[in-house]
Amino acid sequence: MHTGNKAILIKGARVHNLKNVTVEIPRNKFIVVTGVSGSGKSSLTIDTLFAEGQRRYAESLSAYARQFMARMNKPDVDYIKGLCPAIAIEQKVTTRTPRSTVGSMTELYDYLRLLFARAGKTVSPVSGREVKKNDVADVVNTISNLKEGDKALIIVPFKQHANRELKEELNILLQKGFSRLYNGEVLRIEDILEDPKWKPVAKKKLYVLIDRLVVKPFDEDDKHRISDSVNTAFYEGEGDVYLEINGTELIHFSNRFELDGISFEEPVPNLFSFNNPFGACPTCEGFSLVLGIDEDLVIPDKRLSVYEGAVAPWKGEKLGLWRDAFIKASRKFDFPVHKPIIDLSKKEYQLLWKGNEFANGIDEFFKEVERNLYKVQYRVLLSRYRGRTLCPDCGGYRLRKEALYVKVGDKHIGELCEMPVKDLQQWFDDLTL
Ligand SMILES: [Zn+2]
Repeated sequence: MHTGNKAILIKGARVHNLKNVTVEIPRNKFIVVTGVSGSGKSSLTIDTLFAEGQRRYAESLSAYARQFMARMNKPDVDYIKGLCPAIAIEQKVTTRTPRSTVGSMTELYDYLRLLFARAGKTVSPVSGREVKKNDVADVVNTISNLKEGDKALIIVPFKQHANRELKEELNILLQKGFSRLYNGEVLRIEDILEDPKWKPVAKKKLYVLIDRLVVKPFDEDDKHRISDSVNTAFYEGEGDVYLEINGTELIHFSNRFELDGISFEEPVPNLFSFNNPFGACPTCEGFSLVLGIDEDLVIPDKRLSVYEGAVAPWKGEKLGLWRDAFIKASRKFDFPVHKPIIDLSKKEYQLLWKGNEFANGIDEFFKEVERNLYKVQYRVLLSRYRGRTLCPDCGGYRLRKEALYVKVGDKHIGELCEMPVKDLQQWFDDLTL
């Protein structure tokens, strides 16, 4: 047996059930090790060859670096010659679920989830503004950035609980150490309590005054005091704090993750996991498809026009009336009934499905079918057009809508997954965070 530079020699390998195996492996070749289950393929390649390669690599490192590595035992082998640095792509029994994608199988998706959890910006679908939650520092910074001499009030909405009298509520505030309310003017709570005729002015919103200050170059002690006040304000205001400046400007701060009256989920990696009940779209449970009306079955030949009978179920003596009614009504809204379906604009196609005030569309037809499911012929009819269709709630993106509100570089994670890998790489190259 010759051992030139071109081969790796393993002599006397006895790891696990290997019986003193001596073998020569050519270098720079693609080698396949095969054998029946239990014959020692992994013992030879992973537990002997790779293990020794790793061990020698670790030995080349300093003692300091070695302490961070798992302890590696020398494999039971006489010697290995001609060994080069080794890497192993782990053999792994993958658990596939029907939700698996190339992204999730390759763990690429896990990095995307992490990116979105850390760098994602949540955008409100109502206003398109970014959802941010405020903390004490935001309020303190806002105050610090005001002009010298500006007067600032830290106030929170006055809340009267349903089962408490106004007087009771005010007494509780006094006990908590608050002595003033604010409704455009500062009101002493003690004065209010002494005035039996006092009533809140309906048009003026009532606040509890937490603190008032005049802006100057604040020193550390001042900043501490302001921070304390703001902290108290967030607590007392149950998350809502207002800053009134010079009696004119009112700035709202909230430490809840809310905007436009919607409460959003803060991005965490699990929010972007469709294999996890927390992140999965509740309608399709992360599968992206639901059982619904299959458009391709309803309109199997898109070269036909509505007039020519493109809508397959609108046929026959009775159901054909739907087609006739649609054609008749279409004159009122200028629908091209003689145009092939494939040439319809997106709006026209939508109209055919959704209908309008003049005509019933295909959706309405199937609602009618569902109302008649107690009749066997309608059950047969429905089954003919049912199929797996794109989930209407997540649009096939598999995630709950809160996850899709989170954007990185104006795209949500589902849109990234749709991109061909080549385009995705370009997108990442262009991305600035
Ligand atoms: Zn869905």
